Amino acid sequence: MRIFAIGRNYAEHIAELKNERPDEPVIFTKPDTALLRNNEPFYYPDFTKDIHHEVEIVLKVCKEGKYIQEKFAHKYFDEIGLGIDFTARDLQQKAKEKGLPWAIAKGFNGSAPVSDFVPKATFDMGDLGFSLKVNGELKQEGNTRMMLFSFDFIISYLSRFFTLRTGDLIFTGTPKGVGPVTPGDRLEGFLEDKKLLDFEIR
Ligand code: MG
Repeated sequence: MRIFAIGRNYAEHIAELKNERPDEPVIFTKPDTALLRNNEPFYYPDFTKDIHHEVEIVLKVCKEGKYIQEKFAHKYFDEIGLGIDFTARDLQQKAKEKGLPWAIAKGFNGSAPVSDFVPKATFDMGDLGFSLKVNGELKQEGNTRMMLFSFDFIISYLSRFFTLRTGDLIFTGTPKGVGPVTPGDRLEGFLEDKKLLDFEIR
């Protein structure tokens, strides 16, 4: 199982971090040790003072494939869930300034809490709302209508470089409203109005 992630896929989030709008998806990966399941608590590590939440829709790959054509990409995922792409913004900023990779800023232990998955069949992939509350307050709200690159495009694009395998997870980018978390915070993630994530920062 691999974890792939797309950066800069929602225009308003690109603007809030003053990033350039990409011509192609920005791809990074997280190791499997980043995964946090079953709403287990996230333990704030000592190497950063600025971890941000990024709520994202996560696709679960259901079939092996490479060089997948965009028109067939929908057959390669049948379940979706929610994830938090925890980012050590201070480490990422340092890496960005030096033009270095984001591995430690994005891939540290527990940096990928992921919810249970639900069948995608009941949802409209092109018009899917999701949101994040921190301590009961709405912080992030997005809709897949606002994505620069669609799920099908992302699957097709990724599969040119990486053979996708059953069970692989794909984080599809965060909408605006990212911000810091601190120990004691409670994070709740919603896909439409269904609560899929509910865990604590310790
Ligand atoms: Mg992200």
